[in-house]
Amino acid sequence: MLAAKVFGKEDLRLVEVERPALSEESTEVIIKVKAAGICGSDNHIYHGQNPFATLPRVIGHEFVGEVAEIGDKVTGLEIGDHVVVEPITYCGKCYACRQGMPNVCKDLKVSGVHVDGGMQEYVKIDVKQAHKINKNIPWTTAVLAEPYTIAGNATTRAKVELGKTVLIQGAGTIGQLILRMAKAKGASVMISDVLDSRLEFAKLNGADRVVNVVNENLAEKLDEWTNQERANVVIDAACTRKTFEDCFEFASVAGAIVPLGMSAEPCQVAQKPIMQKQLTVYGSRLQAYQFAPVIKALEEGMLTDDGVVTQTFSIHDIQEAFDLINKEPEKVRKAVITFD
Ligand code: MN
Repeated sequence: MLAAKVFGKEDLRLVEVERPALSEESTEVIIKVKAAGICGSDNHIYHGQNPFATLPRVIGHEFVGEVAEIGDKVTGLEIGDHVVVEPITYCGKCYACRQGMPNVCKDLKVSGVHVDGGMQEYVKIDVKQAHKINKNIPWTTAVLAEPYTIAGNATTRAKVELGKTVLIQGAGTIGQLILRMAKAKGASVMISDVLDSRLEFAKLNGADRVVNVVNENLAEKLDEWTNQERANVVIDAACTRKTFEDCFEFASVAGAIVPLGMSAEPCQVAQKPIMQKQLTVYGSRLQAYQFAPVIKALEEGMLTDDGVVTQTFSIHDIQEAFDLINKEPEKVRKAVITFD
């Protein structure tokens, strides 16, 4: 069967690999992959910039498919079921797991990063990682479940809810999905970016206010919008040094901040706003327990595809997909790889 493997920096190859087989008496499931989204982090692995990834690696952590085979001990799943794959495994026993944070388990393994992922025709997973989704949801919509769980985790961590004001810095794909998630949870949302095209899309996604920081002053706009209170929740989906530092000024009293960047570069943050406003900074890595609510919201039409998936490519043309993402990034919100 075919697999898309990164061997080194900008060295992505379609290779023939052995189809996985079930172990005896197992809770394993073999999924026939139908669609896999390309994430910014896949592109980082492609460029040799993901410090967590080990090579060679079959990339892809946003994938969905059909149940092809099930182990003897599997219950609750049948051949032919449509599933979204939860791309993490964890020990269930360490401190993080005991705190309800398996997403930062000491033995965390992420598909497409630490173990082979979804950009191949068949994948073997444990039944715990398979989340059933209605067969009437198109594969190219179901494939957004994983990116939506990232938005679900960030907004859950910061307790985004009805009546709160949320500022999202950065209207890229993750920023837009966080916007939709925050609106679905009943919050009022201001979103900022440097590109009008992204802000136009944000309006379609329900943004209450959009701010282009190239020609508008975000602090001023925020003060106007919140009557000087500033934002109850600030989410940094732009992940630059400045947007991170600004979070502490943009947060209201008793506010919450979710920085999504992973840069190792130090930033300058004063102690005063954290103490004075009693701020809480929430780290948010991957997701914990977000698949069930996201899939339900997709099935009920509360969360949708609507313009997020901009291109689909056959697995045979995966190089073309990466070339487009790297040469014309402004044309791509989410490119999805499909399988026959
Ligand atoms: Mn992703």
